[in-house]
This record gives sequence, structure tokens and C-alpha cells, in this order.
Amino acid sequence: MNIILLGPPGAGKGTQARQLEEKYGLVQLSTGDMLRAAVRKGEPLGQEAKAIMDRGALVPDELMIRLISERIAQPDCAKGFILDGFPRTIPQAQALDKMLLNVNSKLDAVVELKVDEGKLVERVAGRFTCAKCGEGYHDRFKPTRAPGVCDQCAGTDFSRRADDNAEAMKTRLKAYRDETAPILPYYAARGVLKAVDGMAPMPDVFRALEGALGLVV
Ligand code: AMP
Repeated sequence: MNIILLGPPGAGKGTQARQLEEKYGLVQLSTGDMLRAAVRKGEPLGQEAKAIMDRGALVPDELMIRLISERIAQPDCAKGFILDGFPRTIPQAQALDKMLLNVNSKLDAVVELKVDEGKLVERVAGRFTCAKCGEGYHDRFKPTRAPGVCDQCAGTDFSRRADDNAEAMKTRLKAYRDETAPILPYYAARGVLKAVDGMAPMPDVFRALEGALGLVV
């Protein structure tokens, strides 16, 4: 099963994708995570993307399309994947169609996580991640059980994203409205678009997502 999760920054795409990966063995393809890894490793792609990402703008389509087409062609993606953060523009959506045709595959569902934009700055400003295992937390909504210790791996090193601040969020939300939201009618016209309330508590969002994907009855 191949799925796209859509929604503005802070909608919960990453959190939900991780859970789908864990429970159903689908591969999470987060272009944001891939870019941040390229930045950490000092790769040319990371060097090109870092300033753009820190500002909250979109990395050029051409780079993103190359990145995801190489990833999708890898064998682990054959069992199904969840795209989280791609496509973000109409040209990316069109390129994805071509890539899927090339690997003899198709999209099963596109799910929009519907959220209240006014709440997103607070959501992203409190986010932090375990540097060792990648588990995501939030100062208010999902703190670690023991202060400063990861619930999953007992790691004590955490990181915060450089673009999870009010200033970059303005640009990120504008990019979503102007460039990404037009993808919704593109998929609606094909009858694959579904919507889930992303403001509900995390476990409820996950159950609704499973329902929308026909994974539970
Ligand atoms: P994310 O982790 O999905 O919020 O992505 C973080 C940042 O990476 C975005 O604000 C963009 O600068 C960049 N990025 C990630 N995915 C894409 C994409 N598909 N197209 C353009 N830029 C992207």
C-alpha cells in the first residue's frame, strides 16, 4: 500500500507515519528527515538545502524529485511506503505519477490531516526529538516520562529543529497554502483523497487514519 500524508507543518504527518511504519511495516519516506540527514553528513545536497530549510522555504523541485525517485526505486519500498513531506508542489505530484508508473506501482490513498492553523506555531515550537532513536516529543503535549530521558531508548540527548520557530513557520505556512494546498484538488479529482481530523488526540488521529485507509473495520 502506497500512501501520501498531506497537511501543513505541525499537522502530525511524521508522528502518524512513524506509527503506520511500526504497525504495518510500510516504509516512512520523510523528505524533511532525508534533507536533515544530508545536512548533518555535510553532503552537497545538505549544503544546498540548509539555508532554504532554515528559512522555511521550499527546496527546488528538481532536487526533491531526484532524491525521492532514487529512494522509491530501492527494494524496501516495494512492500509499500508512506510519503511524508512529498509531494509539496504540483510538479512534484506529476513527477511522482511518472515514478510510480516506472516502477509499475500506484498510489492507494492520499490523506489530508486537517488542522487549525492558529494552533500550529505552538505545536511546532514545543517539539523535540531523541537524538539517538528519533522518538518525537513535545514540551506540553508529550513530555518524556522522566525529565531529560527518552522513554524508548533511555537516551539523554535531544535536538530541536532550526525551522521550528515562529518566523520560519510564517514562511512554511505560506508555502503550504500557496504551493502545497493546490495538490489537494489534483488528488480529489482522482478519487483518492481522504481527510482526517488532525486536531484530535494522537491515538484518535491514528485510529481515524487506519479507518480512512481501510486498515481496520
Ligand atoms: P519537513 O520536515 O517535511 O517539515 O521539511 C522540512 C523542510 O525541508 C521544508 O520546510 C523544506 O524546506 C524542505 N522540504 C522537505 N520536503 C520538501 C519537498 N518535498 N519540497 C521542497 N522542500 C522540501
